[in-house]
Amino acid sequence: MPSQTVSQDDAETAVRTLILWAGDDPDREGLIETPGRVARSYRELFAGYENDPRAYLERTFEEVGGYDELVVLSGIRVVSFCEHHMLPVLGKAHVGYLPTNRVVGISKLARVVQGFARRLQIQEKLTAEIAGAIDEVLEPKGVGVVIEAEHSCMTLRGVNNPGAFLTTSRLTGVIRDDARTRQEFLRLARGE
Ligand SMILES: [Zn+2]
Repeated sequence: MPSQTVSQDDAETAVRTLILWAGDDPDREGLIETPGRVARSYRELFAGYENDPRAYLERTFEEVGGYDELVVLSGIRVVSFCEHHMLPVLGKAHVGYLPTNRVVGISKLARVVQGFARRLQIQEKLTAEIAGAIDEVLEPKGVGVVIEAEHSCMTLRGVNNPGAFLTTSRLTGVIRDDARTRQEFLRLARGE
């Protein structure tokens, strides 16, 4: 990761420049506080650079009482930004795994999604990164990640196609290779 050498002031100046460039007056009353607000919002929306999301998965529970079925958390809110236009990518992630002998608190799965999403991303890479982190840290028998998202760069501008969703998936291990497990994951991911 590149080191943080840009100050809050530098970021605010950049937003001010964009306001001027758009054709407005950054000194008028309604806009005077805007560069500060934008920089603070971006700090929150790009908070994924501050942590390694794998760290959320490191506290696991080994007493699973013989549980050896799929664990699936569906409908996790995805708020990300496309790296090509810096416009929002909004959607849902469905994440599951088949544990070996370790499980993780379910809120941690959502945090992993959020940690990788709050960066400049492409959806394909985001999907693979979430699956890769779960695979690496929990070493389950298989991982499944499906993301469905609307890309503002396509729905608000350009081809202007509202309602178009991009679906990406990454399946590993038995969730990829065993047809029954895969179908079970996809059924639970759809919330059925
Ligand atoms: Zn884009």
